[in-house]
Amino acid sequence: MSKGDPKVRTSFYESVQNYFDKAAEHMDLHAGLLSQIRECNSIYRMHFPVKIGEDYKIIEAYRVQHSQHRSPTKGGIRYSMHVNQEEVMALATLMTYKCAIVDVPFGGAKGGVKINPWDYEAGDLERITRRYTTELIRRNMIGPAVDVPAPDYGTGPREMAWIYDTYRAFKSDDIDAAGCVTGKPVHQSGIQGRTEATGRGVYYGLREMCSIESDMKKLGLSKGIAGKTMVIQGLGNVGSYTAKISQDEGDAIIVGVSEVEGAVYNAKGIDIHKLLQFRAETGSILNYPGAESFGKDKRTAVMEFDCDILVPAALENQITMENAHKIKAKIIAEAANGPTTSGAEEVLLKAGKVILPDLYLNAGGVTVSYFEWLKNLSHMRFGRMEKRFNQNTYSRIVDLVEKTTGKPITEKEKGLISRGADEVDLVRSGLEETMIGSYHQCRDILLSKPKMDGLRTAAFVNAIQKISSDYLSMGVFP
Ligand code: GLU
Repeated sequence: MSKGDPKVRTSFYESVQNYFDKAAEHMDLHAGLLSQIRECNSIYRMHFPVKIGEDYKIIEAYRVQHSQHRSPTKGGIRYSMHVNQEEVMALATLMTYKCAIVDVPFGGAKGGVKINPWDYEAGDLERITRRYTTELIRRNMIGPAVDVPAPDYGTGPREMAWIYDTYRAFKSDDIDAAGCVTGKPVHQSGIQGRTEATGRGVYYGLREMCSIESDMKKLGLSKGIAGKTMVIQGLGNVGSYTAKISQDEGDAIIVGVSEVEGAVYNAKGIDIHKLLQFRAETGSILNYPGAESFGKDKRTAVMEFDCDILVPAALENQITMENAHKIKAKIIAEAANGPTTSGAEEVLLKAGKVILPDLYLNAGGVTVSYFEWLKNLSHMRFGRMEKRFNQNTYSRIVDLVEKTTGKPITEKEKGLISRGADEVDLVRSGLEETMIGSYHQCRDILLSKPKMDGLRTAAFVNAIQKISSDYLSMGVFP
């Protein structure tokens, strides 16, 4: 049976390795070097007991460091019942390429704890998180120069604060301790703009792609993200920010949303803020008055409904050989990690669709994590030194323009022009620059190789090129 055979179900890790192998065919690199880049460097599997109520539960957990070609290694920690060694390996592997594509100087890593976080009280989650961190400290698998976790599915700023606090308790002499984890709450050495970063990055990537008229024309679409219809699968952190920012800043129209409880669809558009508010109040998106509802059994069908852009923003293996041929969207924007199997990708590409691949498109999270880590190492918030200086200079320029032209400038305009950048402005601008620049790097590679099948292969080639030159500069390979 061939890999493209519908009977073959490719695992997430196999898909990632298939993508790597496809990209490697376009490159002329030493086989040893390729396999050094491809394999996971270290895999740590642990079991530890945690007291839950009157009982002790044995927790299964992992940390995989895929590549140390750059230090520290970097990647989130996932809390989910789907966690297994292969999944964490696939996620760690993707982190290596993701960091390379957006020029973030880290190797890739990922952690996983096999629990359903929604089944536990906050106190239990705190004990699990602190115990997991202790296991990592014991093995020297966490630290600002070693390996720096971050949030992922099922974790957020609260868990990162527990990790930081645990690390600090053990390493009181580490002046850079705050850099041991990113995605921390802003008041606990976090950075403004980290929570929205992955979703905002997805928006910047999509907007950039849609801004190229000739590429849009090939898809039979008009230029620009405004007016494009979107279906969002998953309303977690990444899905909800992607939807909100695309609607508010890009004027995209959200027509469909799916979540664990079901899906909603309205071809005319759904106000994402109202839908999120409705879910916060009722605990479900179902029966939202502004759309048609579909029960749990039909929730994935919304991915097959009419729209220009499909955004899988939940877990891996959502677009498979079973449903790939039914997808109508012309653009698949992979906000999640690994939503498309390698077999399904072939089907989509043959049907003329464009896939904005995960390893590029959702790299906004790690990009802003990099900014947070730099902030922690510098012990100073971004903008502190230059904000006032810039503001005063711009003010003087505006006053001069007003004087020389004789045209009055309103206070509102003056305020807008002479504003010095706050931390969040700098974070957003750094993220925007990164997403735009990396998109063009990948697109240029694709355009330079007529036989290349799509942006994912180009993104892998981009990453492999950068990582291989790191290895070659170390003199490891001839
Ligand atoms: N978990 C996120 C990802 O998959 C963020 C990782 C990080 O910030 O280190 O990219």
